[in-house]
Amino acid sequence: MTNNLKYFIGNWKMFGDFSSLKIINNVKFHINKTKSKKSRIVFCVPSTLIRHFSSKLKNSNIIIGAQNCHFSDDYGPYTGSINSKMIKRAGAKYVILGHSENRIQKLHNGDTDFLINKKIKSAIKNNLNVIFCIGETFKERKKNLTNKILSGQINKGLHSVKNLNKVIIAYEPVWSIGTGMIPKHNELNKTILFIRRKLSKSFKNKNSVKIIYGGSVNSKNIHKLVAIKGINGFLIGGASQSAKNFIDIIKNCYK
Ligand code: PEP
Repeated sequence: MTNNLKYFIGNWKMFGDFSSLKIINNVKFHINKTKSKKSRIVFCVPSTLIRHFSSKLKNSNIIIGAQNCHFSDDYGPYTGSINSKMIKRAGAKYVILGHSENRIQKLHNGDTDFLINKKIKSAIKNNLNVIFCIGETFKERKKNLTNKILSGQINKGLHSVKNLNKVIIAYEPVWSIGTGMIPKHNELNKTILFIRRKLSKSFKNKNSVKIIYGGSVNSKNIHKLVAIKGINGFLIGGASQSAKNFIDIIKNCYK
């Protein structure tokens, strides 16, 4: 496991155009000034921006990722879709898969665990790093089903996935995304530990899996989140769309 290295992964969702590169350039400038910090910065941007941003940021310390991909390795009759080979060739090094905004619970035709598993395998085959999102809904949490839900998502999503060192698990409670709410310290501690134990029991090679947290991360709550044992970084949605907010999170993380 990478001990001190912290991931700060921005998920831009449906945001940004070519001019938004200035946001990332500002972050880059800040990171260069504070080189000593051990952080890995990834921006998962809309597909339209991957090629442009990745070529502009070549040889920099910022990595570009994608937000989803199709499960098929080959070209095919899938209107509007892009597969892992295509995003890789466009310059992405990471891809977010299983995000709750793309899962079946949110979208009528959304991703099932089975599809997510196929996507993960295809992405790894094409040498992409996978940010695999898991998380329970508010209702499931209320019914005390969090561990059961996470366990099922891990079992199905990572079923016969061999190269676990290409996988980062992003624990994103669905009720926390975009709401300003985060889990209580104890609760999050327990859940991260549960995920780590679950990986230990179910997979060989599990020590290489990083676990990050996502859901309403901001510069005010980061000090609480970073205190959780075993967290390797953060997946940051809304706050990654502003250089100031993103930089403040990083700054406050190392305070
Ligand atoms: C996300 O969508 O992955 C996310 C973490 O969003 P937010 O930070 O806005 O809650």
